[in-house]
Amino acid sequence: MEDICASLPEAKKSTVYRIVDSLEKEGKVRCTGSIGRRTQYQYSGSLCPMHMHIKCRVCGKTEHLDYATTEAIRKAVDDLLGFETLATTVLDGLCGECRKNKENN
Ligand SMILES: [Zn+2]
Ligand SMILES: [Zn+2]
Repeated sequence: MEDICASLPEAKKSTVYRIVDSLEKEGKVRCTGSIGRRTQYQYSGSLCPMHMHIKCRVCGKTEHLDYATTEAIRKAVDDLLGFETLATTVLDGLCGECRKNKENN
């Protein structure tokens, strides 16, 4: 978003923010948090509400799990505990890079 906004005249910025805001409401972009005064958005695509995500608890990197994996996890939890897991669940984890860093320390 910052890149798009940077190339626009001041007057257009509020229009862009309004569009982003409505996209967020539709679930097409996701607010992934703020760094300082900047709000970060991630294009989540129309399929994102259909699958789980995993977020690195160290660096915050988020990856998308595919639909088949999401369904496999949901089925396993259902079989085991009778819980229906939400497809929008965000799993907590450590990304490959952070795991390496951890091993080196
Ligand atoms: Zn996704
Ligand atoms: Zn990480």
